[in-house]
Amino acid sequence: MIEPVAVAVPQPLPEARSFEDIQALFTEANHALAERVNQGIAQFLSETDEPAPFNRDDLINKYASFEIPLEGQTFEAYLETLEQHIIPDSAHLASPRYLGHMTSPLPRFIPEVGRLIQSLNQNMVKMETSRGLTLLERQTLGLMHQELFGFESSFYDQCVHDFSSTLGIFTSGGTLANISALWAACRQAAAQGAVDQRRTRVVIGSELMHYSFDKGAEILGLTLIKLPVNQDNSIDIEVMAQALQTCLEHDQQVIALIGIAGTTDFGSIDPLADICRLGQAHGVYVHIDAAWGGGFVLSAYKEQVLAGVAQADSITIDGHKQLMMPIGCGLLLFKDPNLSKQIAHHAPYAVREKSLDQGKYTLEGTRPANTLYLHACLSIIGRKGYHQIFQRAMQNTAYMAQAIKDSEAFELTSEPKINILTYRYLPKAYRGKVLSEEANRQISQFNETLQKVQRARGQSFISRTSRAITQYGPQKLTLLRAVLLNPLSNEADIQYVLDDQLSIAASLES
Ligand SMILES: *Cc1c(COP(=O)(O)O)cnc(C)c1O
Repeated sequence: MIEPVAVAVPQPLPEARSFEDIQALFTEANHALAERVNQGIAQFLSETDEPAPFNRDDLINKYASFEIPLEGQTFEAYLETLEQHIIPDSAHLASPRYLGHMTSPLPRFIPEVGRLIQSLNQNMVKMETSRGLTLLERQTLGLMHQELFGFESSFYDQCVHDFSSTLGIFTSGGTLANISALWAACRQAAAQGAVDQRRTRVVIGSELMHYSFDKGAEILGLTLIKLPVNQDNSIDIEVMAQALQTCLEHDQQVIALIGIAGTTDFGSIDPLADICRLGQAHGVYVHIDAAWGGGFVLSAYKEQVLAGVAQADSITIDGHKQLMMPIGCGLLLFKDPNLSKQIAHHAPYAVREKSLDQGKYTLEGTRPANTLYLHACLSIIGRKGYHQIFQRAMQNTAYMAQAIKDSEAFELTSEPKINILTYRYLPKAYRGKVLSEEANRQISQFNETLQKVQRARGQSFISRTSRAITQYGPQKLTLLRAVLLNPLSNEADIQYVLDDQLSIAASLES
């Protein structure tokens, strides 16, 4: 067992600090230190994990103890902790050979916008504490609403300044957006008829629903019905219609139908237009979880990915996935802004009923002015820039899918609809054979080891998932999962990642 070491051993200053020294923390800028932080960031962004391979146990031991110092350190002394531990111990998600997670590299203007957001430190819960940024938030919500739902501009002129409702909310991510949507659907159902506590309230979606729906269902006391998916990893509308019918026959209250535009596992897309029609025909709320795929609305792939969403009641989009925004940026848009009134709350000391406060409509209270990231991205990247980013992502995905198909060592396990694909390595003994359940179990075991070794070596990265795919029946398989989000990744990077896996596999097999 390795001895735990403290990350920082805080050294008290030789002389006790006066209160003036503490006050100086709020007033004195240090440009030399800022430059050192810049250098640390630049070096980090240019690296893979290779110089510091991932070792879980080492990290766990290293972060085992910490003490709050009596006398604080200087920032300069503290910076050493950052440089020696915190920065090197972080994951290199921005590397073009890291094709496994939904986190993109950030445009270089983002940290500058971030510095501004933090320095202004406006609180979006109230107009008093955010002023113009509350209006900017309502404007940017209007922009995204128009992309998705496409109402006339007169509608937006009116709604943006009608403070009795909102077109949507900013959240910390897709999870909070989805939970808020379920909340609105529950309130709407309650408003439309007498709530009968004895009736079971259900939400229907596919088995690939993000686990945020499990959280929301638990908080709100709902039952989730998870439908099996077809060979495209999406819902068959007949299956959903049948499930809805069965619920109605059993006197269950159907709160919402969920469609996914870009599943987390496969990037697959449910029949969104059909789900919206089904919901409308039965007066049931439809929510589209486009946390992953929603960004495509800003590109010419809009129809291919999001056809039909304009008929949904609400839509989730994650800014921090495909829109190149930093972590902490989710969006929920309501087709009918009146829906936001269902989840409105007030307090006497703040967010008063007649106020202009966006905090009336959010599950979260105090909230940062993340709207500025979206505003900056839309302004600086622009529609054309986003299209080019998505185009590169789609080209990279097609290239990788083809490279996998062309190699007898790999099996493509999901035909990509957008920029996520899954595949697996086939050890030599299993190639060209009919695979038994036991063979599939062995292959899964092999792929899990392969993924872990690749992660530990740190030269490239692919994530993994465990799902059944139709051609092999209900058995869960370990699948390698590539997320092709990074606009700096190119074909050579993709080839590098696959070659890395081939060389690891060869050494594991021998
Ligand atoms: C990522 C994701 C979520 C959750 O979003 P967070 O920002 O991680 O909270 C929800 N749904 C889908 C489809 C996702 O891909």
